[in-house]
Amino acid sequence: MEISIQEAVDLIRAGRLAAFPTETVYGLGANALDAAAVAKIYAMKGRPATSPLIVHVSSIDMARVLVAEWPPEADQLARRYWPGPLTLVLPKTAAIPDIVTAGLPTVGLRMPDHAVALELIREAGVPIAAPSANRFMQLSPTTARHVFDAFGDKVHVIDGGPCRVGIESTVVSIAGGKLTLLRPGMIPFPQLELAAAPESAHPAPGMHERHYSPRTPLFLVADPEELPAGYGAYLWREKRAPVAGNIGRQIKMPTRAAAYAARLYDVLHILDHEDWPWIAVEAPPDTPEWTAILDRLRRAATR
Ligand code: AMP
Ligand code: MG
Repeated sequence: MEISIQEAVDLIRAGRLAAFPTETVYGLGANALDAAAVAKIYAMKGRPATSPLIVHVSSIDMARVLVAEWPPEADQLARRYWPGPLTLVLPKTAAIPDIVTAGLPTVGLRMPDHAVALELIREAGVPIAAPSANRFMQLSPTTARHVFDAFGDKVHVIDGGPCRVGIESTVVSIAGGKLTLLRPGMIPFPQLELAAAPESAHPAPGMHERHYSPRTPLFLVADPEELPAGYGAYLWREKRAPVAGNIGRQIKMPTRAAAYAARLYDVLHILDHEDWPWIAVEAPPDTPEWTAILDRLRRAATR
């Protein structure tokens, strides 16, 4: 059911769950300081307890009391990119229950760039642990409708309209002054390295063998000539398929990366509902601005 920000504040304070919009995707939130509340997130999503949650804060001050150290690199990055789609992984204090971090000694923190999310966290007065508001392994939600589609009417959601960024945050760990990319996002990693420290770590590939998948088999193709047999759906960016080809539906995707990211999950949700035998996606270029999108498409693709 749809709820107001104030109703979400009351739910969070009562140790219950509330889904809310951020600039990346919709989150399924609970009081990050309350282990029993956080356990409800794992149960609802069907998420294994081995997968850590991101903790959302409304200020740098709120973040600092949750971590054992706040190195200069963290301070520089937070001041430069918060609020925004950047998660910083740092050693946690005992204030963060182990269930939030899947037993890891570190916690992922982020200040979302969304007025609704910030007001919710500020008014609740506690940091909010929130993974994406979808069932484990499925597509992330970028509208309130996607959240209802995943969980039915039992979920409480603040409807803040479509998400501006549309894919999950860049995740970077900071240890001993060294930056390591854990998940690419729309803030490119080289830019982060430059902003934090001139001589820090080399980029590491995304570590989690995680899918962000539609139910429909998805194929990345370099060329419309490579489309599978039968009538499926084709997302093209530059290379439109011949009209005579075996395609049930062609969707023109935005040419630029930011607009493409904002559109991607919604298009995949729509096509999933339409029950095509396959979805083929014209592979975007392998350049830094497309890294995060290519990462999500590769994880979504059928192997
Ligand atoms: P999400 O499903 O968007 O909530 O993604 C959470 C992601 O954040 C995980 O897949 C990790 O990549 C990352 N993450 C969160 N907390 C940590 C942590 N303590 N250590 C390493 N990665 C983390
Ligand atoms: Mg997720």
